[in-house]
Amino acid sequence: MAMYSITLASGREKLPLKHHPWVFSGAIASVTPPYSSADWAEVLASDGRFIAYGYYDERSHIALHLLSWKRDELPGDGLVRKLVRESVLRRKDLLRLEDTTALRLIHGEADFLPGIAADCYGREIRIIVSSRFADAFLPVIASELDAMLHPSVIESTVDRAYSSSEGLSERTRHFRDGAETKEGDERENALFIENGIYYEAASGKGQKSGFYADQRDNRQIAEGYASGRTVLDLFSYTGAFTLHMLRGGALSVDAVDSSESALRHLLYQIHLNENKGVLPPGSRDKVETHQGNAFEYIRGIEGGKYDMMILDPPKLAKTKSALEQAVKAYKDLNRVAMEKIRNGGIIATFSCSGAMTRENLQTVLSWAAADAGAEVQILRTLSAGEDHPVRLSFPESEYLKGFMIRVWK
Ligand code: SAH
Repeated sequence: MAMYSITLASGREKLPLKHHPWVFSGAIASVTPPYSSADWAEVLASDGRFIAYGYYDERSHIALHLLSWKRDELPGDGLVRKLVRESVLRRKDLLRLEDTTALRLIHGEADFLPGIAADCYGREIRIIVSSRFADAFLPVIASELDAMLHPSVIESTVDRAYSSSEGLSERTRHFRDGAETKEGDERENALFIENGIYYEAASGKGQKSGFYADQRDNRQIAEGYASGRTVLDLFSYTGAFTLHMLRGGALSVDAVDSSESALRHLLYQIHLNENKGVLPPGSRDKVETHQGNAFEYIRGIEGGKYDMMILDPPKLAKTKSALEQAVKAYKDLNRVAMEKIRNGGIIATFSCSGAMTRENLQTVLSWAAADAGAEVQILRTLSAGEDHPVRLSFPESEYLKGFMIRVWK
C-alpha cells in the first residue's frame, strides 16, 4: 500500500522508540514522497530502522501520530477498527455492570487512538474529537462502535480547546446504525446510572461530553465520609458529588459553580433520584446552590461552617508553561479550604491538569498546610477510574489526581 516514508532526525528517535505516540514536525528529517495530504506513514529511525506506523497530517499541531509499533500490522481502516474493538473489549466487565451504565470506551492515546474520547451514557455514545486524525476516521470509529454495542445514537462534537490548533470546525455529527444521519435538536437527554444514582446527560450542549465519568470511583469513596457532615461541593457542575453526599447521609450540601445551567440541572437530578427512590423525599431541602466564582466564594464563608469539602476545579494549567500560575491558584484554594474547614474535617481535593504531577499536587498541599497552620493527613490517594487508564509510555494520560485528606489545627 502507498504511504509516506518518514525518517526521523538523528537524536530525535528516543521517545518514539519508547512508544510515545507524538512526533512534532521538528523531529522529522524527511518525508517521501513530498507531503500532499494527510495519510498513513511508515516511520524510520535516522539509520533506516523501522520504528512504527503513524498518521501524518501537517495541518495537525502534532504532525505525526504513532499508532502501531508492529511491522506486520499494516495501517488502514482495519487497524483503526481493531484498536476500537480492543478498547471496548478491555472494558467488557465494566460494560456488564447493572448499577453503572456510563463509562469511557476510548481514552485517546491511552487506548492507542490519538485525540479521540468516546463515552457511553446508557444507550447513547458521545465522541469528543480533539485531533484531525479522529475527525478523519470518525465514520470508521462510529461504525465499529455501532457494530459492537448497537447504541441508540452516536453523537460527536469537536473539543473547543483543540478546534483552532487542529483547524477543525466545531460541528456536531450523528451516526445511527453505522451511517451518518441528520439529527434534530429535539432528541431526549440520555438517562444513565452510576453506582446506582440516576443522571441525565443533556443532549449536545453540556460541557465535556455532558458528564465527568472519570470521578466515578472518587465519588463513591467520598460518599463513605458524608454521614452527619455539613458539606461544601465546590465546582459542583451538575452535582454528581452532591448526589453521593446526600445518599451518604450528609446533613446539608452547598453546591457552588459558575454555570447557572449546571446548577439547575443539579437540582433536577436531585428530583430525579427522589422520584426513583434513590434519595429520600426532602433531600432537595438539604441543598443550596450558589452561582458564582468558587475561588471568591470560599474566601467569604465563615470559618468552621463545613466539616467536609470537595474541591474539583477545572483544568487550571492548560500547558506546562501555565503551570506556575496554576500552582499558585491550587495552593491558594487549598490553603483557604484548610483555614475554613472545621477541625478534623475532610477534604477531597483534585487537579485534572495534565501538566501537574501527583508529586506537584502533594507539594502544593504541604505549602498550603504550612500557610494555614494545619496538620494534614492523607487518607487516600485518588485517581481516575480504570476506564481512563494511564499508559506508561504516555505519562500525559495521568491527568486526574487527588487526595482525600483530614485537616487538624
Ligand atoms: N465535580 C464535578 C465536575 C467539576 S468540572 C462532577 O463531579 O461532575 C469543573 C466545574 O467548574 C465546571 O462545572 C465549571 O462550570 C466550573 N467552574 C469553572 N470555573 C469556575 C469558577 N471560577 N468558579 C466556579 N465554578 C467554576
